[in-house]
Amino acid sequence: MSRVLGIDLGGTSIKYGILQGEDILSGETVPTEIEKGTVQLIDKLAGIVVSAGDIAGVGIGVPGIVDGTRRFIYECKNLYWKEIPLAEILEQRTGIPVVLDNDANLATLAEQQSGDLRGVQNGILLTLGTGVGGGVVLGGDLYRGSHGLGFEVGHMRIGYEGIRCSCGREDCFEVYSSATGLLRHYNHQAALPVDQAREVFASFGRRESVGIRTMNWYLDHLADGVVNLINLFDPERIVFAGGVAQGLDAVLEDLEERIELIKFTDALPRARLSISALNNEAGILGGGLLARELMKG
Ligand SMILES: [Zn+2]
Repeated sequence: MSRVLGIDLGGTSIKYGILQGEDILSGETVPTEIEKGTVQLIDKLAGIVVSAGDIAGVGIGVPGIVDGTRRFIYECKNLYWKEIPLAEILEQRTGIPVVLDNDANLATLAEQQSGDLRGVQNGILLTLGTGVGGGVVLGGDLYRGSHGLGFEVGHMRIGYEGIRCSCGREDCFEVYSSATGLLRHYNHQAALPVDQAREVFASFGRRESVGIRTMNWYLDHLADGVVNLINLFDPERIVFAGGVAQGLDAVLEDLEERIELIKFTDALPRARLSISALNNEAGILGGGLLARELMKG
């Protein structure tokens, strides 16, 4: 099978690697340095593609909205990009076919290929990081919607505390269930502020009252969001990934019980919840898989 390149273009770092079969041959990480401007960033991406040597194609995951043909970026807020025909630019520079997708879609493809969504007909990946994102598999296929905007799950409204979201609305899922939301809630009450989700889980583990209160608040809102998704999609499995997910291991049963209390019907079996076992190479893997899909035509 031919070699393809997967690139995970993030706001702070670019991770990339060559995929051969299911193996990532050589994973690398370099800083994005968006402050140096768009031209420099595109130069850097073209350099990565050229230095990959003999490859059949490139799949790039971006933290933003990609058009249905997967060649054009409508908007990437944390790269300050709007309307960039990135696939065409890189193809002209390198002569190698390029395809783009939303990073959460690519993480979902990776889960389908090598993770907890393997063999799942209807399933959901929820990424709980700086924001909340994810992907949904329906009938065995990744659902992208009509304009590539099919599952902006972080921006469904779930609360009533009047917390402003980056999208302009209030009380979106991500202001409650992201690592940012978890830390904000904890730091409002804690004597000493922390900057990592794992420190909040550690406080909960030590049975400190601020940790327990924060975790109760967090799990109630996460359960609300997850039950919305169960009511909408009736999934076999929901996989959690991102910075908060590793800590969730200790409270997964608690989350399941909260879901059971508020779900629409008792007639269905419990949705299976799990924590993603893929490491931060999921984006590279997803990019490579997308490139391979493109090669098939
Ligand atoms: Zn929002």
